[in-house]
Amino acid sequence: MKKEISVTNKRGCVFTLTDRQPYQRKRDGSWTELLIWTSNCIVCGKPFAIKTPSNYENNGAFALIHCDEHKLTQDEINNRRRQGVAAAKAAGKYKKAGRVYA
Ligand SMILES: [Zn+2]
Repeated sequence: MKKEISVTNKRGCVFTLTDRQPYQRKRDGSWTELLIWTSNCIVCGKPFAIKTPSNYENNGAFALIHCDEHKLTQDEINNRRRQGVAAAKAAGKYKKAGRVYA
């Protein structure tokens, strides 16, 4: 039986390795593999896919938790960041240099 490979991100979303595709590196033209992972949107449950290099440990793509329809725009991300900073400042827990928000 084929072993299923999956990654669980910090938010508890599970990404399952579903496909691999050949990928030619732009840098030197050599061939490698891209891994295709699928997970489900935390809002609507719709499956969505991400791609990572074969060396996928700690890849930023695993931070995604939404389908295209529900993913945040850059403006929304910036707004949330501002709100987080404002809330931390109000609570007296914001440290500019130390990246302490909570
Ligand atoms: Zn969705």
